[in-house]
Amino acid sequence: MDTGLLIGTVLAVQANYYEVQLDLKNCRGVTSIPQVLLCTRRTRLKKVGQYVMVGDHVIIEEVDWSGARGAIAEVLPRTSEFDRPAIANVSQVLLLFAVAEPPLEPYQLSKFLVKAESKSLNLILCLNKSDLISSSEQESLGRRLSEWGYQALFVSVYQQQNIEVLAQYLQDQVTVVAGASGVGKSSLINLLIPGVKLRVGEVSGKLSRGRHTTRHVELFELPHGGLLADTPGFNQPDLDCSPEELAYFFPEIRRKLLVTSCRFSNCLHRDEPDCVVRGNWERYDHYLCFLELAITHKIHLQKQG
Ligand code: GDP
Ligand code: ZN
Repeated sequence: MDTGLLIGTVLAVQANYYEVQLDLKNCRGVTSIPQVLLCTRRTRLKKVGQYVMVGDHVIIEEVDWSGARGAIAEVLPRTSEFDRPAIANVSQVLLLFAVAEPPLEPYQLSKFLVKAESKSLNLILCLNKSDLISSSEQESLGRRLSEWGYQALFVSVYQQQNIEVLAQYLQDQVTVVAGASGVGKSSLINLLIPGVKLRVGEVSGKLSRGRHTTRHVELFELPHGGLLADTPGFNQPDLDCSPEELAYFFPEIRRKLLVTSCRFSNCLHRDEPDCVVRGNWERYDHYLCFLELAITHKIHLQKQG
């Protein structure tokens, strides 16, 4: 069967096998072939140390159509690469938090925001369980977050509020879903992708974290195009940026430094004279806490290296 060059996207990795979704736009005049092939990695790739990640675009050869099998011959260049979880070619992060149950913890939300900012990816901030608060509470929370520099989308999986709007943001993108445990990530994915049945909230606390870390990262196909990844391992973000770059991950600071500057160009905005960043804004305390973490991290790296 002549299908031309076969290109696909790796949806999941299991032991030495790769589940590859074929990009059928590349197949000339083929109608009834499997959409997903179970592939191995060609020995040549192994020899040059070329690893294959979920999200990779790959060229496939040696296809056995009746058995839905093939071999990955080449990995196309990646546009982005996450390490935890290991996933390539992500275009945006969907940060999901709940307005209540569990209560919205500003410090924890900040940590996720800074982590997402450090990845230089488009960010969608989505607040679930909006059925649990009044519309005036939603408005005031929305205003508060816009002072942080973020436009939040309020959704409710239970009431299916704003799910269509969110689905449009996700269309034709490769999105990773991140957020603390219990905010409704599995419920949302189940709603967006009929047929996927992720387990919802039957475990909590330590057990639930254990469940997430043992599961492999996997991409799910959205009904209107695009892929969505649940992110085991990204529900407890660690901040590993340098003290010098941290300020750029706060929109409030970026905004200030666009129009004015501190006396010292290497100002860390703590107690330096004539600092324009230090002051009375809500997340300044978060900035100082993260700065301490970043400094400790840097000292740790210096000791290691
Ligand atoms: P995950 O840990 O982020 O995957 O969260 P789950 O999807 O397991 O959901 C945690 C709990 O929140 C479950 O009991 C869900 O039924 C509940 N939940 C999910 N979405 C909503 C919602 O829109 N409103 C309310 N009130 N509860 C929700
Ligand atoms: Zn400063």
